[in-house]
Amino acid sequence: MLRTQVAIIGAGPSGLLLSQLLHLHGIDSILVERHSREYVAARIRAGVLEQGTVDLLLEANLGERMLKERLVHDGFSLAFSGRTERVDLKGLTQKAVSVYGQTEVTKDLIEARVAAGAKICFTASEVAIEGIDDHHPTVRFTQEGRTQEITCDFVAGCDGYHGICRQSVPKDAIRTFERLYPFGWLGILADVPPVAHELIYSNHARGFALCSMRSSTRSRYYVQCGLDEKLEAWTDSRFWDELRSRLPDEIADAVVTGPSIEKSIAPLRSFVVEPLKFGQLFLVGDAAHIVPPTGAKGLNLAAADVRVLYRAIVEYYRTGSTESLNLYSEKSLRRTWKAVRFSWWFTSISHKFSDDPFANRLQLAELDYLSGSTAALTSLAENYVGLPFE
Ligand SMILES: Cc1cc2nc3c(=O)[nH]c(=O)nc-3n(C[C@H](O)[C@H](O)[C@H](O)COP(=O)(O)OP(=O)(O)OC[C@H]3O[C@@H](n4cnc5c(N)ncnc54)[C@H](O)[C@@H]3O)c2cc1C
Repeated sequence: MLRTQVAIIGAGPSGLLLSQLLHLHGIDSILVERHSREYVAARIRAGVLEQGTVDLLLEANLGERMLKERLVHDGFSLAFSGRTERVDLKGLTQKAVSVYGQTEVTKDLIEARVAAGAKICFTASEVAIEGIDDHHPTVRFTQEGRTQEITCDFVAGCDGYHGICRQSVPKDAIRTFERLYPFGWLGILADVPPVAHELIYSNHARGFALCSMRSSTRSRYYVQCGLDEKLEAWTDSRFWDELRSRLPDEIADAVVTGPSIEKSIAPLRSFVVEPLKFGQLFLVGDAAHIVPPTGAKGLNLAAADVRVLYRAIVEYYRTGSTESLNLYSEKSLRRTWKAVRFSWWFTSISHKFSDDPFANRLQLAELDYLSGSTAALTSLAENYVGLPFE
């Protein structure tokens, strides 16, 4: 039988970051992760960090490599109707965003946790939580054929959308809000220089496209695709042709192509559960909410949850007060819903939902209005760089 203060289910960015911040405040945790260390460290996902996320990583003593290798972006571009309009994030909000891949964040976190001697139980199966309404819940799992049991004070459910923590809550205690989008994103990663030094979001009659990057030599490109698309049908050359067809000519001509090193299709969804606290169990990050990646908010929201929860746990162990723990759900959900709204809105003006020409003209009018209005651009920019913390 193992004993810890906080049992953390899932060693993605939420779980690892929570564990690292608690450790820096003298609070013990054990991480239980379904996959292997190599699998977790290699997953290709988000890439844009808000300043608040960068600050939290610095607070977790993880900044050194990030500060050296990140790309700081003061703006991004909107392409539509053959035009390209820059959104000057820095000029509008005095803030910028950082491009530093989630893969790198995860690697830094795993290294820091392992160096500090953290207990991380990788390749755990049959993970189950019991007694969330008791003061000392139990987490049970199987590792290398052996059943293990952890007793703890709190369980942090950081196990993503498909995890077991949310599913452990009685159905009548949880409310789910969901919106599925009628398309997905086909993304490729390639070791070619990005077409521009900032991101380009393109609204096109053939569908949305995004030019993004992970570094000055590694590009990440996406095209909107049907939910029934098969990855095998997308050769690299078909992908590059489709991407270029959805960009203004001068940008399309500048795209450097090359073999993909990763290719995947992700469906788009908005998803939120309420509340986020059930007795001693707290849902964090993707276990609690999912947003379409258009607004680059998924990883940032996960970090924002961790920020609120770790401070509440520290306060509890310092003072015995449960006040901040009891406010976790309300505080995190207020921020979450604003990011859900922004991600939904940005998706709705940039993607092709149907062949309806009226809807398309409305999107183009909105993009035209946006690019000519400082007020509208400021609203876009302040959401994109991350709303201030309360
Ligand atoms: C394909 C894809 C592309 C994305 N692209 C972007 C993007 O471009 N921009 C953006 O902002 N966001 C993006 N996101 C979202 C972003 O990656 C997530 O918001 C972020 O990973 C959330 O971190 P998390 O730690 O909460 O969850 P996760 O990263 O999902 O981590 C959960 C962890 O829990 C583990 N786990 C699951 N079940 C169990 C179990 N039963 N027991 C133990 N462990 C378990 C998983 O293996 C995983 O390691 C993307 C997500 C996906 C899936």
